[in-house]
Parts: sequence; C-alpha cells; structure tokens
Amino acid sequence: MPWVTRGLRNGILTSRYPARPDGYHDNWQGSVVVGPAQPGTPAAAIAARCPTGAISAGEGETATPALDQGKCILCGRCVLEGPGTFSFAPSPEVARRSRAGLVVPPTEETEAAVASARADLARRVRALGRSVHVRHVDAGSDGSDEWEVAALLGPIYDVHRLGIFFTASPRHADLLLVTGAGSAGMVRPLSVTYDAMPEPRVVVAVGTDAISGGLVSPSYASSGGVCDVVPVDVWVPGSPPSPFSILHGILLAIGRLPSGRVGR
Ligand code: SF4
Repeated sequence: MPWVTRGLRNGILTSRYPARPDGYHDNWQGSVVVGPAQPGTPAAAIAARCPTGAISAGEGETATPALDQGKCILCGRCVLEGPGTFSFAPSPEVARRSRAGLVVPPTEETEAAVASARADLARRVRALGRSVHVRHVDAGSDGSDEWEVAALLGPIYDVHRLGIFFTASPRHADLLLVTGAGSAGMVRPLSVTYDAMPEPRVVVAVGTDAISGGLVSPSYASSGGVCDVVPVDVWVPGSPPSPFSILHGILLAIGRLPSGRVGR
C-alpha cells in the first residue's frame, strides 16, 4: 500500500510537453552553439582538440568558427577552453529536418534546404492518422541512446498520451527510429526493416552516433552513421539526446508540434 500514499503525495508527474512548458525541459543543455570569435580565443587550437572534429575554424583569428552538432558529443571541452565563443544552449529542441541544419551558425543555403525538407516531409506525413507506430532499431549503439528511448514509455514522458506507440513489427510501423553508428553487421537488418515498412514512412536518426558515427567512426566496424543505409528525414543530435529531444524529433517528423512551432 505505500505506493498509494506516495502516489497521492506526489500527484501527477507526467510532463505536459509539448502543449505546456516543462521546467526540466527548459533547463536541459542540449547543444553547443557558436558566437562571434573572441580576440585571444584560439579557435583553430580548440578545433584541433575536439575529439570528433566537429569544429571548423574560420580564416583568421576573428572569423566565426562553424560547429557541426551532428558530430558533437557534448563533451564540453570547447566551452571550457573558449567560453566567449562556444556555449551550451538551454533547450533540448535540437532535432532538425536537414543534415545541413545541424551546422551552426546557419547559412542562407541551410535555411533554403530546411524549408525544402519541411515541405517534402509535410506532404508525406499528411496521410498518417491520429496514432503513429514506431519501430526502433539499434544499429550498433553503446546502449546510452536506448536508455533515453526506453524512458519515453515511462510515466514522466508517457508518449502514449500523444498517440505514439512502439511496435515490434516493421509491417505496422509508420516511423523508423534508429540509434547506433551503423555497424557493419546491422546494415542489412536495418535495410530489410526499412523495406518492410509501408508507405508513407519516415526515418528519425537518434544520437550523434547515428548521425555521423560519433567517436567510434570511421572504423572497420562502422559505416559512420546510418544515412548511407536508410534515407533519414529528421536528425536528433546528442550523446545521448534527452528523451525530450527524441520526442521533439518524433513530433517534428510527423508534423505534430503545436501550431506556431514549426521547428527547423
Ligand atoms: S563539446 Fe562538441 S564541439 Fe565541443 S569539443 Fe566537445 S565534441 Fe567538440
């Protein structure tokens, strides 16, 4: 019986995201962003020390560097060594509809690519009904992304309230959620799973490993992300991404973000 009194004492803990603000959601540091280069900040030296090669230093000391969030594992080294230029951004809404959209600061070409991807995805998911079924495939993950995916089914995130259900069969799935770096042994199973899904189908790559291979690529065992195996529609960076980031990616993919929040 103690769970009854504990439940009454705690009340409802389920998040109302995305309909209402969520304190935990708003304080999550989900990505690293780049500001103007600061005099004395050695961007080239910091770029050389980034463990995944996510930073490209610009020409000259004052040029703004570029950072590929699809390669970033959020280790924080650049924020520590160049705090005027690199900083954590307080939001888990980091999913993007185009791979180019993960590079900051954005360029005009990036904005055009994102607009085109948004229109294409909106057209394809129009036929999806009120509930969406998700098939998750671990394509060579270290296990961390799976903890965050599993949390979506717990009482805090409870994705069933949004009509999102996980299914064991690709035949019943609308959305393919892929984690892991795309290890050689998982290339065929992943491809077979995608082929077995009915149209319309969308693919969400979850985590830096799935997007670019992360720390473990390139290697003899990894193809450096899953985009060469399946056509990715939405990219969710993070190592691992927060459950809120994964949920944001799913909602972005199926066009279910609240009106006025179209996402990038
Ligand atoms: S936080 Fe990301 S961009 Fe910065 S050094 Fe670490 S991996 Fe590289």
